[in-house]
Amino acid sequence: MTKPLPTGATIGIFGGGQLGRMLALAAARLGLKCHIFDPAKDGPAAQVADNVTTAAFDDLDAIRAFAAGVDVVTYEFENIPAAALDALADVVPHHPPRGALETSQDRLIEKQFLQDLGLKTAPFAAVETADDLQAAIAKIGLPGILKTTRLGYDGKGQARLTCSDDAVSALEAMQGASAIYEGFVEFTHEVSVIAARGPDGAVSCYDPGENVHQDGILRTTTVPARLSPSQRTDAVLLAAKILNALNYVGVLGVELFVTPETLIVNEIAPRVHNSGHWTQNGCAVDQFEQHIRAIAGWPLGDGQRHSDVVMENLIGDDMNKIASFAEKPNTALHLYGKSEIRAGRKMGHANIVQKS
Ligand code: AMP
Repeated sequence: MTKPLPTGATIGIFGGGQLGRMLALAAARLGLKCHIFDPAKDGPAAQVADNVTTAAFDDLDAIRAFAAGVDVVTYEFENIPAAALDALADVVPHHPPRGALETSQDRLIEKQFLQDLGLKTAPFAAVETADDLQAAIAKIGLPGILKTTRLGYDGKGQARLTCSDDAVSALEAMQGASAIYEGFVEFTHEVSVIAARGPDGAVSCYDPGENVHQDGILRTTTVPARLSPSQRTDAVLLAAKILNALNYVGVLGVELFVTPETLIVNEIAPRVHNSGHWTQNGCAVDQFEQHIRAIAGWPLGDGQRHSDVVMENLIGDDMNKIASFAEKPNTALHLYGKSEIRAGRKMGHANIVQKS
């Protein structure tokens, strides 16, 4: 059992976006310091951190120097190159574990892992060639979605197929990358569970949130989600099963499709998650503090939901609405300090709180 990090210790964070920023703010509240490693200068996290390294993830000398100056390393995104992890592995502990990153980096490995755990996923098949795609469509049927196995996020690297004529353009959209064909799940709604596990194996799950996406990007999360008591229990139990199987330390997001019959796991994210931002104003201990507590070896905090919350992402031009959000009652604004507004860019979010 690792000793808890003392206050004043330094947490290294790979990635300098808004998730890194909110992790650094949570760490600061606990008297811990943060050192951000990111290729971009002056990102959202760098603005609030104690120390910053601006270097590429293939700059292994920079990674070794960074690792030597911190007490533990964590990440705000899952696509960390294996060589970067190798470079720090002998120098400093890192959480969540490498296996969790590797599982979530590849949709095929991820789906197989979930099925091996006995959890339900969309039917899927690996696709490298046009023949593979025809075989996958014949086996799984239409409609379906073709996705790159790696490096997809917010709906990027995906093509929907409604008839077999769509196969050529869908394969072209993969741009030669390995792909996975998934049967289209006729879900009624989407939910996610944000779950945490400490190094001692203690698990704490937040109440599931209901997510609405637009153009592949999360728009809103509402808690409580529309789930029956038994679905809520199932959602939390399956998240705990995933955490235990990965021997996980930290916070993980599990995205689920809800169908009239069952819960189907879409994907897992080995990090704090956009659909967990409601916890900042709906719980005594939010997902960011929970993650910091877990990786620092502190006891997990109380993640019980005390309020109903609607989290609304502020994307691109939504920034023009911040004055009206600032005037709204029961509304907390969380802005990420990004200077340039771009279409589809997450600029901040608002948590609209109601009594439970
Ligand atoms: P993903 O990048 O896998 O999270 O997909 C982004 C969004 O596309 C999901 O949140 C769903 O709304 C939709 N989606 C992805 N996979 C499927 C599927 N197999 N069936 C139905 N909808 C899907």
